[in-house]
Amino acid sequence: MQCPCHSGLSYPECCEPYHIGKQLPESALQLMRSRYSAYATKNADYIIETTHPENSSYSANRDDWKESVLFFCNRTSFRGLKIIEVLEGTQESFVTFFAHLFQNGDDVSFQETSHFYKVGDRWLYHSGTPERP
Ligand SMILES: [Zn+2]
Repeated sequence: MQCPCHSGLSYPECCEPYHIGKQLPESALQLMRSRYSAYATKNADYIIETTHPENSSYSANRDDWKESVLFFCNRTSFRGLKIIEVLEGTQESFVTFFAHLFQNGDDVSFQETSHFYKVGDRWLYHSGTPERP
């Protein structure tokens, strides 16, 4: 199986080790790719565990949060991911990407600059600024 983050690598060679907790993403870019493929494989727990507590969708009610992530995953087709720009720091990073997504036949693709912080030994998704592609 090809990795759902569209890297061209197989899933076990790409995002699977992060999803099954075998390895931590070493960079914000790896985390970003693995979050995209987690959405594509409906892995809501991974999305939740890699979200920074300051994120606006962070919720103490994990069941509700999980349900809303799965609602999004179930109605979305994840057709492509293009990395546009990466600014990697040791504690703070930015990744600009274009996500090619469809919902019920509608193109809902978007471009975003995501902001990541390293907390302890883990990269976490802090927030995103949508941009016009
Ligand atoms: Zn991948």
